[in-house]
Amino acid sequence: MWSTPAPYNSAVIRADLHCHSTASDGTLTPAELATRAKAAGVSLWALTDHDDLSGQSQALQAAAACQLPFLCGVEISVSFADVTVHIVGLGIDPEHPTLVQGLAHTRSGRERRAQAMAQGLAQVGITGAYQGALQYVGNPSLISRTHFARFLVANGHCQDTNEVFRRYLTPGKPGYVPHQWATLGNAVQWITQAGGIAVVAHPARYPFSPSAEYALFSEFKQHGGQAVEVVTSAHTGADAARYADLATEFGLLASTGSDFHSPTESRCDLGSMPPLPGQVTPVWEALQHRVH
Ligand code: AMP
Ligand code: MN
Ligand code: MN
Ligand code: MN
Repeated sequence: MWSTPAPYNSAVIRADLHCHSTASDGTLTPAELATRAKAAGVSLWALTDHDDLSGQSQALQAAAACQLPFLCGVEISVSFADVTVHIVGLGIDPEHPTLVQGLAHTRSGRERRAQAMAQGLAQVGITGAYQGALQYVGNPSLISRTHFARFLVANGHCQDTNEVFRRYLTPGKPGYVPHQWATLGNAVQWITQAGGIAVVAHPARYPFSPSAEYALFSEFKQHGGQAVEVVTSAHTGADAARYADLATEFGLLASTGSDFHSPTESRCDLGSMPPLPGQVTPVWEALQHRVH
């Protein structure tokens, strides 16, 4: 065991290791996020855009400019047992060819999926959704359900993005199109090969039975996964306690992050999460050599 140098001491650090920029479905640029994180008192930050690394260099530069310790990151879309699961990668090398190529392949189906989503919405009378969603897209290779949600809210179909997801964009609803994302094994291997640590993102959000969730974590470990998000905006305090216990049971490190997307849409701002429960080992204790 090494001793933790002062700047990364878990008792004093305020980490936010999960958020999104205009490189995926966030509304702020990487530089705007760096400034906002710094102002919020964040002392270790990661940008984790969906399936894409194009925001990392701007984030790194902006973080350096305001002396904010930074980890490169990503959030990979995975299909596991017919459910979409998100695997965050922290401390990755954003230029590692295996990761870069894997993500390019993961992104490649989004365009076709978006066209099919628009067709589904047209069938219930919502026309022009593809062009409409594109108005909100910051990265042409990353059109997501969130961009459709913003269009539907702006056009008065729903009050907020949550309502759009509930009525139109979740399994069984008119704008939902099933999609085959990366496999769990591939996502964990790409992250690990790129020098990072794989993290199961917001585990309380998945509709798994206890046995399917056990299978997820068992397979995740077997593939080399090392951490679980314990504290995040989608979790209650009870969820955090439950996944802290699960981290102990599976021998996983613990991560924390707001999953911030936008000042007007997100439940929680950057840097606003409660501390990790005392019993867990924070993921950054194993990532000090990857901090910029
Ligand atoms: P996609 O990768 O295109 O399937 O879009 C997934 C994104 O949709 C997530 O990362 C969230 O930002 C957003 N999302 C999913 N479910 C909801 C919800 N119920 N309310 C608001 N946003 C959601
Ligand atoms: Mn998102
Ligand atoms: Mn997610
Ligand atoms: Mn996220």
